[in-house]
Amino acid sequence: MSYLKQVDPEIYDAILKETTREATKLELIASENFVSEAVLEAAGGIMTNKYAEGYPAKRYYGGCEFVDIAENLARDRAKQLFGCEHANVQPHSGSNANMAAYFTVLKPGDKVMGLDLSHGGHLTHGHPINFSGFLFNFTGYQVDPKTETVDYDKLMAQAKEVRPKMIVSGASAYPRFFDFKRFREICDEVGAYMMVDIAHIAGLVAAGLHPSPIPYADFVTTTTHKTLRGPRGGMVMCKEKYAADLDKMVMPGLQGGPLMHIIAAKAVAFKEALQPEFRGYQQRILDNAKALAEGLKKRGHKLVSGGTDTHLMLVSFVGIEKLTGKKVEEALDKAGMTVNKNTVPYDPQKPFITSGIRIGTPAVTTRGMGVKEMDQIAEFISRGIAQRTDDAALAQIASEVAALCARFPLYAERLKEG
Ligand SMILES: *Cc1c(COP(=O)(O)O)cnc(C)c1O
Repeated sequence: MSYLKQVDPEIYDAILKETTREATKLELIASENFVSEAVLEAAGGIMTNKYAEGYPAKRYYGGCEFVDIAENLARDRAKQLFGCEHANVQPHSGSNANMAAYFTVLKPGDKVMGLDLSHGGHLTHGHPINFSGFLFNFTGYQVDPKTETVDYDKLMAQAKEVRPKMIVSGASAYPRFFDFKRFREICDEVGAYMMVDIAHIAGLVAAGLHPSPIPYADFVTTTTHKTLRGPRGGMVMCKEKYAADLDKMVMPGLQGGPLMHIIAAKAVAFKEALQPEFRGYQQRILDNAKALAEGLKKRGHKLVSGGTDTHLMLVSFVGIEKLTGKKVEEALDKAGMTVNKNTVPYDPQKPFITSGIRIGTPAVTTRGMGVKEMDQIAEFISRGIAQRTDDAALAQIASEVAALCARFPLYAERLKEG
């Protein structure tokens, strides 16, 4: 019996429809994933009731002995998973985690460098419409126009000119590995703090499949809900010497009561990530991304930087007349595939139009799809782009997508109950 169905049939129905959407369409948004039933159970659990301002054994409220268990497990498992000296698991989101790291060592007005949004960076890396851009004096760095990757020599030269107090790396739409050792050298050369935002690649880093920034960076921030496959939330990791200041900045500096149900769910996700199977899962995400990239390339599509090292790729439509990211996103949606339009480096189009789409493999990998399915998906995408103005052809693709999805069930028990 569902309490929700009785109390609030409108929300019940919306959740059921969302479950059906997730199960019957191809989720290719690079920042999304499907959590386990165990993570969902913790996230939907009664720890939502508890006020626990402060930290384990140092709370402003009584009755925290059981939520302390959850937060201690989350912190200890995060440290084990990433090999970091200190972890704060309270940030409500990736953006909050970045805010906490900035404020721990920066003052408003300080100079910072971050990768431009249109070159793969994130809003919180200094975009003028974001708090990071309002409060700090950000200078953007860009990828090289030829290789479409970071040119570390150019970055060194720019850093020597700007002399920032912090350099931020990590990205939302950058398909290649970052060289964190080079970032450290550049930061040391100009006396800057090094912050790395691994929101997208955290699962790959945890599995040892992307070089880890932990040995080099002063602060490493992440979300927990992307490749890491946990509940929606954030986390900051740092060297022990910053631990007390960071904790004070998260609470009381920026947040009130922590979301203890989400922290419990983070602990569950970290436990899952510590299992030996997790590495195989992350490897399949990478294998699938390579297969999807190859499938798109052999069908004539151009990928930013020519391919991918990670879980995501950017397809560029620069130079193809009348083709934009917006149009492709809309066409693929009609064809049963969810992707997002995305700017590509030196994009001639505005952010609401764009000349590219971003595609990621974490979610389709979670539901069990492999390299064979990736080639099929590349064919769907390619056909969807070619037939973008033909609604009947797009509906035909959507039915083929639904048949593929039916072979890889998702949240089947929830749909049966509905
Ligand atoms: C997703 C993302 C964030 C923000 O995470 P939210 O939880 O949406 O606030 C921050 N940085 C990077 C690089 C991201 O990709």
